[in-house]
Amino acid sequence: MTTHAHGVLDLDEDELVACVACGLCLPHCPTYRVTGFETASPRGRIAAMQAVDLQGAPLDATFERYMEECVQCRACEAVCPSSVPFGHLMEGAREVLQEQRRTKRPWKRRIAEWLGYRLVLPRHWLLVALSWVLALAQRLHLVPKRSSVPPISVHELARPLRAPATAEDADAYLFPGCVMDAWQRSTHRAALRVMHTSGARPALPRRGADCCGALHVHAGRIEEARTLARRVVASMPGDAPVVVDSAGCGAEMKDYGRLLDTPEAASFAARVQDFSEWLAARDPLPIRPTGRLVVVQDPCHLRHVQKAAGAVRVVLARAYETVDTDDDGLCCGAGGAYNALQPELSGDIRDRKVAAVERAAGGRRDAIVASANPGCAMHLGAAGLDVRHPADLLAVALDV
Ligand code: SF4
Ligand code: SF4
Repeated sequence: MTTHAHGVLDLDEDELVACVACGLCLPHCPTYRVTGFETASPRGRIAAMQAVDLQGAPLDATFERYMEECVQCRACEAVCPSSVPFGHLMEGAREVLQEQRRTKRPWKRRIAEWLGYRLVLPRHWLLVALSWVLALAQRLHLVPKRSSVPPISVHELARPLRAPATAEDADAYLFPGCVMDAWQRSTHRAALRVMHTSGARPALPRRGADCCGALHVHAGRIEEARTLARRVVASMPGDAPVVVDSAGCGAEMKDYGRLLDTPEAASFAARVQDFSEWLAARDPLPIRPTGRLVVVQDPCHLRHVQKAAGAVRVVLARAYETVDTDDDGLCCGAGGAYNALQPELSGDIRDRKVAAVERAAGGRRDAIVASANPGCAMHLGAAGLDVRHPADLLAVALDV
């Protein structure tokens, strides 16, 4: 395929004009579902990109708003008959917005972004140190209970992760990432235990695996994401599978070949597997039925991007009765920093998901929600649902 890129957004023209405006993606778009606005639909967003890139429309605040209202779930991409690479187009548009509109954003947002993306996420020690402060603030009731920050365990923060193997004798790595390692470390502990019980010798990465860069890519901060990705690749040498228990991180790491455009990055990306995907290919775990009902919530980056959501049902099936939601896997509204930047849309989208989960549970008050992505788990947990990672659910079933 020939590619042309010449407009202000520098998007691939062939990709941009591949949309035939059929509208088949519209029912799958969470922002269109809650607003009914064409400008909040995939087709409308592509039309806006075409107007700016091909017809010289201004790169103004209205265009920026249309792009920022997208939760980047990529459900549209998964159902598009013309194979429009929507995620790629949106990342390209956001990269240019980040470069050209950054200085026009409110100063509070610019400071928060600099602190988050530039200062804290690339330095895991600093994220952990600030998490201690946050944990203390939670204990002093200074953080609203309904915020998306889960209760942070000082017990977990005080105990760094330990893996059964080192990089030299491992047959798999577990990637702990940034926020998840600080706020949901017990899930990594459960994942390591399940991996070891399955007969594997998992190791943790060497220095440099502070953050995968997924949040940076979503925000259009592509060069910063590349810097982080290079460090992640270097932190896990060899050819052992790289197991990732965060669906958003795994999706990004599987895309490192495109992000970094090197053979080394492509071969690293080929080693990346979601935790459930990796586990489903092994001998069954020695677990027993728990008698509990689990409503499976598919994170968009597992379902639409990694296309590995089926593995969650496979690994849980021997211990839990699993049931799907009836909303075709519509996004929950978490989307990286989306719930902070678009709280109203994010809340409206979440309301639909909570209703779908409650329908699926059919009145069973003891139902648990399974989610393989920390962002979704935090977002849905803040709405009062009991959300757990498949690794946590399996670790419980090892003890039955
Ligand atoms: S993105 Fe795909 S599904 Fe959506 S309107 Fe365009 S061609 Fe149709
Ligand atoms: S990525 Fe998700 S929110 Fe964005 S246009 Fe596609 S379906 Fe809608």
